[in-house]
Amino acid sequence: MEALPEHTIAFSGLKDGTHAFDFVLGPSFFTATGVEDFMGGQANAHVVLEKSSHLLVARIHVEGHIDMLCDHCNAPMQQAIKGDQRQVFKLSPENVSDDDELVSIDPDAHEINLTHYIFECISLNLPYRHVHPAGQCDPEVENALNKVLVHPENGPDPRWAALNKLKKKNA
Ligand SMILES: [Zn+2]
Repeated sequence: MEALPEHTIAFSGLKDGTHAFDFVLGPSFFTATGVEDFMGGQANAHVVLEKSSHLLVARIHVEGHIDMLCDHCNAPMQQAIKGDQRQVFKLSPENVSDDDELVSIDPDAHEINLTHYIFECISLNLPYRHVHPAGQCDPEVENALNKVLVHPENGPDPRWAALNKLKKKNA
């Protein structure tokens, strides 16, 4: 996603040591991600930045929720997100690393932008499947789905038959 100006940290003006930053990720942030499934959301990103002469270590913690549609009933739901990510920036003229966690930045740079890393932290910690907690799906959709599902009590489950066959064979 595009870098957002509010996630820029002018580190050149910071003393060596630890600095904390808090970012509020509102609906406009989730729209700006360009992810079609994101309908909005609310989260906080807490960043602890450790500065030393040639290294910046950012520890990002994201916590909140994203508004999405349920994979099961397609009604709106809030997907909780919570995760941590560590990112190391090395002030170096050449790209010294093939490690994702370590990126090189221009030694003359004065600022870094964290939008990409905050987004990455969210993406990596987002569950693959997002569904309402049990019993909270749209009841109308649940009823419709139940009608088309084949109920095992309507006949023996073919998997049990296969398992029984296997058991007899081994007996
Ligand atoms: Zn649902």
